[in-house]
Amino acid sequence: MIRSHVVRTLLVQSPSLSKESGQPVYLKLETRQPIGAFKLRGAMNALLALDQASRQRGLVTASTGNHGRAVAYAAKELGVPATICMSALVPANKVEAIKALGAEVCIIGTSQDDAQDEVERLVATRGLVPIPPFDAVDVVAGQGTIGLELVEDLPDLDTVLVPLSGGGLAGGVAVAVKARKPRARIVGISMERGAAMHASLAAGQPIFVREEETLADSLGGGIGLANSVTFALCRDLLDEIVLLTEDEIATGVRHAERAENEVVEGAGAVGIAAILSEKVSLKGATAIIVSGRNIDPARHKAIMEGASA
Ligand SMILES: *Cc1c(COP(=O)(O)O)cnc(C)c1O
Repeated sequence: MIRSHVVRTLLVQSPSLSKESGQPVYLKLETRQPIGAFKLRGAMNALLALDQASRQRGLVTASTGNHGRAVAYAAKELGVPATICMSALVPANKVEAIKALGAEVCIIGTSQDDAQDEVERLVATRGLVPIPPFDAVDVVAGQGTIGLELVEDLPDLDTVLVPLSGGGLAGGVAVAVKARKPRARIVGISMERGAAMHASLAAGQPIFVREEETLADSLGGGIGLANSVTFALCRDLLDEIVLLTEDEIATGVRHAERAENEVVEGAGAVGIAAILSEKVSLKGATAIIVSGRNIDPARHKAIMEGASA
């Protein structure tokens, strides 16, 4: 059980967004997890599902940051070694945070796919155990615990706005919420620049999408051409996908700080941004998953001063 290792996060009403949309809007503050993002739920669930012998061989993953940080944190909690492979696009603050958790870091290539190739090499040559960032049942189930908490805390939940990248978060939340509230609406939100799940769903199969720099850096990267779990979950369970411009995401980050007093990274602010952009219409009690806060402080300051990305 992950219960003793993760925070059951707060769900707080947002007066400003409720006023803006005319519906009651709540923020699910995953920013309050010990690593500053929800990814600890999936990583911890995946580690706990392994037997002790597998764990001791050492864990390995590729990550745009928060998943790597989650695996490093979970490995430290359980006393097992972890290696984190990531591309040179990952912000320095995220790299430092992972090193500070005692994990071995390897920087390789300029895309998430390059980092993933290195994971596969280390699995083959050193026998390390891979913990995928999204495309694994235990990871999706861990992220889905957010959905269980949402339905408990907000029994009349109508719509959930979920940041969408590989789809572990959206898929897990959709399964959990729809099991209890089949008519609830799950809206996935990505950036226009490199929305891999959106492009794959439109193509009817996982496709390669070029990774681009975006303020929502935690939403970057492909869904894997051999995707086996999250593509089907998102295809079958997401009701809608909204894509945002960089300016819209920046507006979301600014609003989070000014109106909600929350430091939120680009990926974590897309639900707020979707409401402010009026690209999503709400019909009742709405929960926004505010997925993470790990933004480089200098970048956050620049955005607060008006920079768009
Ligand atoms: C990973 C991540 C996401 C997206 O999660 P997926 O399961 O890949 O869709 C959203 N927000 C933050 C802060 C993340 O770290």
